[in-house]
Amino acid sequence: MKKNIAVIRGDGIGPEIIEQAVSVLDAIALKYGHEFTYTEVDMGGVAIDKYGDPLPDEMLEKCISSDSVLLGAVGGPKWNGVPGDKRPEKGLLKLRAGLKVYSNNRPAKIWKQLASSSPLRPDIVQKGIDFIIVRELIGGIYFGEHKTEKKGSELIATDVLTYSESEIERIGKIGFETARKRGKKLCSVEKSNVLDSSRLWNKVMRSLAASYPDVQLTEMLVDNCAMQIVKDPSQFDVIVTENMFGDILSDEASMITGSIGMIPSSSLGAGTVGLYEPIHGSAPDIAGKDVANPIGTILSAAMMLKFSFDMDKEAADMENAVSSALDDGYRTADIYNGNGGFTLCGCGEMGRQIVKRIGNTNREQEI
Ligand code: NAD
Repeated sequence: MKKNIAVIRGDGIGPEIIEQAVSVLDAIALKYGHEFTYTEVDMGGVAIDKYGDPLPDEMLEKCISSDSVLLGAVGGPKWNGVPGDKRPEKGLLKLRAGLKVYSNNRPAKIWKQLASSSPLRPDIVQKGIDFIIVRELIGGIYFGEHKTEKKGSELIATDVLTYSESEIERIGKIGFETARKRGKKLCSVEKSNVLDSSRLWNKVMRSLAASYPDVQLTEMLVDNCAMQIVKDPSQFDVIVTENMFGDILSDEASMITGSIGMIPSSSLGAGTVGLYEPIHGSAPDIAGKDVANPIGTILSAAMMLKFSFDMDKEAADMENAVSSALDDGYRTADIYNGNGGFTLCGCGEMGRQIVKRIGNTNREQEI
């Protein structure tokens, strides 16, 4: 198969982690006789520096006309001072909206090799951590009006949170469909004791439930959910929630699995082009030091093979190679707990170890 992948290296650790994901994709292409070509796309701080715009239209066009998009991360302190509408993150929001990817799926699953890296008590970890957060991605407060005005002697900032029934319905359906393929338990997370948008959210989710009698729908306030994720994560199968709640809860969920550097994500929606990215940011504190964990990005590339290119076998091969490198004790700093028996390695070395193992099969990766 021939596939054209738009590659956004971005800022901070973005270029380092993408480099490793591309080497693993190249190893897969070689082994299975595929041809992957890469179209480089500037987005984020790097695009602000070059063009004064975090995602110029021609860069977005390159993504829209590709078969799939692989993204590292964008942003960093260098661009903190730029006006709000020109910040690196605006490029990311424009990309998600341009690709019409309204559903972001973030698995929170612990790898058996990393059970001791979880900050949770062993008895909680032993009960299992394996759930998916389905997050609405192109609506809500991140896409509402933002303004800061002077009123009298002080500044007043406003951010508007809006959801329509149709926006809730389309993400709700993804939540139910995802649960139907898994443990058939869907937890809808909202803040209906305070927000109108959450009360509408609940109304739509309850009406959808009638079409999915095989899926058990529960509702949970977001503050309680934040607590339950650390108290007993084994209770969750699929969580569906709005944009900002999903952003925050998925970082929390990633941490209990060991490290934010391990978690991939896929964003899919109305268009044909999917967006694949690790859930972390550009980690400016460790950029350029060859210490970043590339596994979240490599697993994002594996999700791309599975969901956008229907290459299930190749995706499994990549996941097994990751599992094998972990089995053999290779650890980047974020998942290294200082105990004996492990080899502390950098971003490049972790990538090389995974490339070396492409082809090893059937390793159990779940706890
Ligand atoms: P972050 O995710 O970049 O970093 C949080 C912490 O996790 C840091 O200590 C970092 O070193 C660590 N970390 C993150 N990824 C890691 C990896 N692969 N390996 C090892 N450690 C890793 O979040 P932040 O510090 O809040 O944000 C930094 C910048 O990234 C900001 O400019 C923010 O706006 C941007 N950001 C971008 C995206 C994106 O591009 N999708 C997402 C979130 C934040």
